[in-house]
Amino acid sequence: MKKPVIKCKIKEMKTLYVHIPFCGQKCFYCSFVVAVGQERAIDRYLDCLAREMLSYRLEEIKTVYVGGGTPTLLSAGQLCRLCGLICEHFRFRPGIEWTVEANPEGLTAEKLTVMKAAGVNRISLGVQTLNDKYLRYLGRNHDARSAQDAYRRIRDAGYTNVSIDMMLSFPGQTGGEIKEDARLLIRLHSDHFSLYTLSVEENSRFYTRNIAQNNGRGQARHYQWACAILRDGGYAQYEVSNFARPSKAAEHNLNYWQGGQYIGLGVGAHSYLGSIRSWNVSRLQEYFTRIEQGKPAQDGSETLTPYDQMKESLLFGLRMNLGVELEALAGRYGCFPSDAQMQKIDDFVRSGFLVRSGSFLRASARGRMVLDELCAQLV
Ligand code: SF4
Repeated sequence: MKKPVIKCKIKEMKTLYVHIPFCGQKCFYCSFVVAVGQERAIDRYLDCLAREMLSYRLEEIKTVYVGGGTPTLLSAGQLCRLCGLICEHFRFRPGIEWTVEANPEGLTAEKLTVMKAAGVNRISLGVQTLNDKYLRYLGRNHDARSAQDAYRRIRDAGYTNVSIDMMLSFPGQTGGEIKEDARLLIRLHSDHFSLYTLSVEENSRFYTRNIAQNNGRGQARHYQWACAILRDGGYAQYEVSNFARPSKAAEHNLNYWQGGQYIGLGVGAHSYLGSIRSWNVSRLQEYFTRIEQGKPAQDGSETLTPYDQMKESLLFGLRMNLGVELEALAGRYGCFPSDAQMQKIDDFVRSGFLVRSGSFLRASARGRMVLDELCAQLV
């Protein structure tokens, strides 16, 4: 394959991520640092977010994503305040994609109405499965019925863009159970699906219990079954883990995969501005202390060279079904993959893991199954 030389620009975007670390209880598979049973600290946390936002005053943003944790653990009044802070401190055009992650428990009509009035137009609902046996196994705080009820409340509140998280490949889960679950979830008629296989990570309850996740081959088979059902249900895959109805791909996440810029606020949040990636402290008490003492919440940073940025954009871009345009990367960063990397890319194309499609390079269906391995070899 020849090295790309055509100069062209990828559209730059800056997005806003706000992290809410509070959860009602910790799911058994969760390895994140979450604040459980600390609802009394939420107002203090919002005070700190407000102070952190001051340094970005009136920055223009393209999408908003409030993630967690469980943002909808906040009361309606607290959600109203959070949305107000975002509107007050950032500039954005009306109607930009504004997502809030929600869990079924405690997702009241009042909270949904308050968020919608403030500009939230997309809800990402953590359902995971509609099989009560596996919801209990995962340590989720809801059952299938309450997840379906929460979904209906979201639609009743007028949201026209709803995503559902689905998890699969639990130890002992049969093919029939996976297919049945996918079919039941499709019947909810959401606009978007994020699909994950269970992985057992350090810092999770499953890890301390020595729960063994399914092997890679089993996970790949389960994932392919679910993918096929989602595709038959009218969802187009646009990224390794994400499926959408037409025009409902998540703009916020596309920005990450396209190497776009982002602002992250809150405990543990990451930012990527210019060539600098930075991250906030990951402990809640330290976050409070830093902000309340007038210090930045930032815990560290690294400067990426144009070559680092190009390489990351290449690897992230391969996660998308569209793939990545090498010429555009060359135009954007002023450099392109090394001779050794181009050789590797050619090898992967010849062996059917990567595909040249016009000016784009993308992973084949087979390549997506082993994408982490391909990327590790390309680094
Ligand atoms: S709701 Fe999400 S963030 Fe909270 S404990 Fe469960 S998996 Fe972790």
